Amino acid sequence: MVHSAPPSWSSVLDYVRAHVKPQQFETWFTGLQCLVMQPGQVRIAAPNKFYRNWIERHYLPLLRNACEEVLGTEAALEFVVLEDASAIENDATMPSPATASVATASAAAADTAAMPAPPANKAAEPRPVNIGEIPLNPHYTFDNFVVGPSNRLAHAAALAVTENPATAYNPLFVHGGVGLGKSHLLQAICHQLLARNRALRYVYLSCEAFVNEYIAALQRGNVDAFRQQYRHVDMLLIDDIHFLASKKALQEEFFHTFNALYNAQRQIILSSDSPPHEIPELEDRLVSRFKWGLVAEVEPPHYETKVAIIQRKAQARGKRLPDEVVHFLADHLDSNIRELEGAVLKIIVLASLHNHPIDIELCKSALKELTGRASDVNIAQIMNTVATQYNVKVADLQGKRRSKSIVLPRQICMYLARELTPMSLAEIGGHVGGRDHTTVMHANEKIRKLRASDPEFDQKIERLIRQLQRG
Ligand code: ADP
Ligand code: MG
Repeated sequence: MVHSAPPSWSSVLDYVRAHVKPQQFETWFTGLQCLVMQPGQVRIAAPNKFYRNWIERHYLPLLRNACEEVLGTEAALEFVVLEDASAIENDATMPSPATASVATASAAAADTAAMPAPPANKAAEPRPVNIGEIPLNPHYTFDNFVVGPSNRLAHAAALAVTENPATAYNPLFVHGGVGLGKSHLLQAICHQLLARNRALRYVYLSCEAFVNEYIAALQRGNVDAFRQQYRHVDMLLIDDIHFLASKKALQEEFFHTFNALYNAQRQIILSSDSPPHEIPELEDRLVSRFKWGLVAEVEPPHYETKVAIIQRKAQARGKRLPDEVVHFLADHLDSNIRELEGAVLKIIVLASLHNHPIDIELCKSALKELTGRASDVNIAQIMNTVATQYNVKVADLQGKRRSKSIVLPRQICMYLARELTPMSLAEIGGHVGGRDHTTVMHANEKIRKLRASDPEFDQKIERLIRQLQRG
């Protein structure tokens, strides 16, 4: 009999989710597994050392609070690293304390400076400079990237950029749904170029960080320094540039940064959840610039690519999954590669933990846990629950009326649908009066902000989420 992980781990994740930005949650918490959860002790498996170090350095107090909240007692947190699955088979105890692990290039400085030299007064000691807030994930390399028809173009373009930076495709604009490998590709470019040129000066950061830093610079009154740091690099990579949607002043700022770098023949690489012309309220001059180089889409992987990715992810953990298991997973999991990865990890952990062979039975129990949350809640339940809570009619939520009493509950529906169901923005829009994806994005943003600024509202939403998840 396969036991599933203790149910309270999902409450810990709920707590964390409510306290970090969605992107942070996606990046750092969806890959964690709970091995032991009991009063006084919580043992958590991290996919690799990099994750563990990052969590320990940035999220330990939050995670501890979350565990204590759920367990109702103090708890010692222990981390196990699943670099290979044997770590759990040997019942690894607490690993040595985290040491800083920031991605740096391993190769020696090569004579092929692939980029135009950085401007005068170069530092005496060449070292890669990443002034962005995100260290590179050492696993996001070209070697670890499975290529298939769905991502072939983006992959080829990324490689071409490493061969001929600032000349092959500038900018390179990669777009596609969440979890399809955009950040992986961007970071693979950094790794590859760093291996050739340790003195490369680059910035890799999320658009959100770019925006936040700009605002902070405005407040400090040193926008000039902010500008300088982005305008004097060899390569600028901004992840999730769609975050600039509807932000006029920032678009203006980014426009000038773009021009400065482009004119100086520096490589620019951007990722986004949609193609340039579909980013809501993006100035035309930016839309056209984003198309100057190459716009490449990463699509959800086809069945064969899913199979290859599942096998590769298991292999990376030192396991070979039986064919029937691989096909079962490919059949039952959605095409989000991050989720495929999470499922493979979960299965390996469960098998080791319960000394159970990796078979369909085990898969079923792992999948129930992984997908239960998302698939149990549907849009109809969301609408009914919200309608009751706000004392409005479901038909009104689905309709066109824009009176104030309807608008907020409708936005809450869109937000909850985004959080709790796998529906796309467009699908959600279809259920609330045939609205387009921009409206859904706007609603999400608004509710997220309200939750952040109004604790009472935040609790109300939290209660709705719990209520829906209880079914
Ligand atoms: P995005 O930025 O598009 O949301 P990520 O680049 O973060 O997606 O990818 C999500 C996860 O899936 C990462 O762990 C990444 O390594 C993995 N992944 C995505 N595409 C591939 C691929 N083609 N081959 C192997 N792993 C992949
Ligand atoms: Mg990403």
